[in-house]
Amino acid sequence: MAANQAEQQNQDGRHQEVGHKSLLQSDALYQYILETSVYPKEPEPMKELRELTANHPWNIMTTSADEGQFLNMLLKLINAKNTMEIGVYTGYSLLATALALPEDGKILAMDINRENYELGLPVIQKAGVAHKIEFREGPALPALDQMIKDGKYHGSFDFIFVDADKDNYLNYHKRLIQLVKVGGVLGYDNTLWNGSVVAPPDAPLRKYVRYYKDFVLELNKALAADPRIEICQLPVGDGITLCRRLS
Ligand code: SAM
Ligand code: CA
Repeated sequence: MAANQAEQQNQDGRHQEVGHKSLLQSDALYQYILETSVYPKEPEPMKELRELTANHPWNIMTTSADEGQFLNMLLKLINAKNTMEIGVYTGYSLLATALALPEDGKILAMDINRENYELGLPVIQKAGVAHKIEFREGPALPALDQMIKDGKYHGSFDFIFVDADKDNYLNYHKRLIQLVKVGGVLGYDNTLWNGSVVAPPDAPLRKYVRYYKDFVLELNKALAADPRIEICQLPVGDGITLCRRLS
């Protein structure tokens, strides 16, 4: 975007900040949603975890409160019981999931970093939902390969949320499409990638945004062309694409 165009957008009250939690047309509108419909209904443990994470240096990675609310509602609507999450960080989306599942619900949660998960874990324990979570430390891809080899996980997940290394999303998709049940849902997060999916080549993007942009573009095309799923890409948070397995 040309500098004067960017300036004009700022004057219009549109946000430019990289890592913003919403792609809505104005900060005021986003704030309105949070203050009217999200924060007043946010469960106390989620508020506590969000506030605890706000002081962490990588806070930019956390799922936004409106997206947490969306995930929680979606899981209840589809009666999810057996779920997976790739990319836990301090556990905000994990807690949104755990609170939505029935008492005997299960979440297989994977992350290469246990330390951050353990930061949020006391809040999850206090909320009384830690028994639903099986945390596996390590890279997700080899773990998925192992699950596919085992055979017993095929078509067994109601919902899988993917929110980790964006350069592997297509590799995850190849595997997850076998693990999610027919009629089950895969949720790929950050598929609008800070709005960079429509940025011109000379746009002043942060290094990591530029690096992952092409992977996200490739994923979006591949999902739209995949006959095994029907999809719905929503401008919630940084964009989430829901994929319902058809066959
Ligand atoms: N869903 C989380 C939340 O609501 O706060 C945010 C996840 S954060 C965007 C991405 C996470 O993916 C990081 O915690 C990182 O350690 C993890 N990660 C990165 N590469 C990974 C990999 N290959 N396998 C599993 N987790 C990975
Ligand atoms: Ca995310």
